[in-house]
Amino acid sequence: MTYRILDTVALRTWLAQQPELTDRLGGEAADWAIREVSDGNLNTVFLVQGTQGAVCCKQALPHVRVAPDWPMPLERALYESRYMRTVAPAVTGLMPELYAYDAGLFLIVMECLTNHEVLRSALIADRALPGFSAVIGTYVARTVQATGWVGQPFETGARLLEQFSGNTALTRITVDLVMTDPYRICERNPEPEAGLRGDVRRLQTDRNLHNAVGRLQGRFLSVRQALLHGDLHTGSIMLDGSDVRVIDGEFATMGPIGFDCGLYLGNLALHLCAAPHKTTMIRHEMQAFWNSFSNELRASLAQGGGDLWALSAVGSRGDLIGSFLNDILRDTAGFCGLEMIRRTVGFAQVSDYTLCATHDDRLLARQKALQIGQTLIVEGPSLQSFNDVLSLMGL
Ligand code: ADP
Ligand code: MG
Ligand code: MG
Ligand code: MG
Repeated sequence: MTYRILDTVALRTWLAQQPELTDRLGGEAADWAIREVSDGNLNTVFLVQGTQGAVCCKQALPHVRVAPDWPMPLERALYESRYMRTVAPAVTGLMPELYAYDAGLFLIVMECLTNHEVLRSALIADRALPGFSAVIGTYVARTVQATGWVGQPFETGARLLEQFSGNTALTRITVDLVMTDPYRICERNPEPEAGLRGDVRRLQTDRNLHNAVGRLQGRFLSVRQALLHGDLHTGSIMLDGSDVRVIDGEFATMGPIGFDCGLYLGNLALHLCAAPHKTTMIRHEMQAFWNSFSNELRASLAQGGGDLWALSAVGSRGDLIGSFLNDILRDTAGFCGLEMIRRTVGFAQVSDYTLCATHDDRLLARQKALQIGQTLIVEGPSLQSFNDVLSLMGL
């Protein structure tokens, strides 16, 4: 099928021609209820409810959905489907099942999470059932085990590097929006509110900070530890009670594992800046994430199977795993800091700040996020334990 942007009419017609999907939906095409639920920056998403079942259809647009004059290659849908296929065996039940991918329409058809809610919205509405972070820790540990040289023969990672290194358009977004724009004058940056202008100017002129950001960019672009999700914020997670799923893997690329960990924790930290009364709950979630991530990874790596120095099986594998986890910890702190800053002053900000009751509260919340972010970026390389990360967040 040649590419065209699907509306609900065209999607219904296309679905009606896919026997496996019509079986799944049930009934006649005319009976299906189709509604658009797009709320991300890039793509259109439709939920289709049939008489027997439902599917979710996600199509890449030739531009950024929320900025139509910003062109964006369609291939991101190919990489998202490839990511889903690659990690699915390792994270069964933690991701929607991929039903179909149409290479011409750049269209993903997947399991519809009908009763799930996006974690960010659930947190804002105070509806998230505690415990979700342990699941995300498991998710990241399993993807690392399945795709990184520490858990697999290095040839696995080499093949993945080949399969994902073409995802440059989205890696470019990360390099620009996360690691560059907040630290320079750039027309994509929204005009900061008056009270934040001094903070923004400091971000743009602090040499020490710039050196640390540059170091993280170097890590992001040159360290190939595992296949990253690449966009693991609280808007890329959906939950229904204790059923937690990761969606939206279009930014997938080989990179440093601390990037996924840092994005996730950074979004929890942002939420806490906006909702300081939730300290106990968020600290608990952060600790649960790190415990489950590090314990699961440690346990799976201890069993061997990867190229984490094979001879160390003789005695010191535990030491090697420990120092590998410490490197991840330091990256995690830095990328967490980058995420906190870019989501506070950059192009794509978080809605968590709407929780602040007054303008002054919002300003203070943002200043706090910027301050914590800078500290994590600069201090990251010297941290020794997850407690150090929590301390730098004031937890
Ligand atoms: P984008 O890449 O544009 O950010 P997402 O993959 O994040 O797109 O999806 C946008 C929204 O669509 C999500 O926030 C969620 O509300 C909804 N959505 C995405 N995938 C599913 C799914 N499998 N089932 C139900 N809703 C989904
Ligand atoms: Mg939504
Ligand atoms: Mg999204
Ligand atoms: Mg996306």
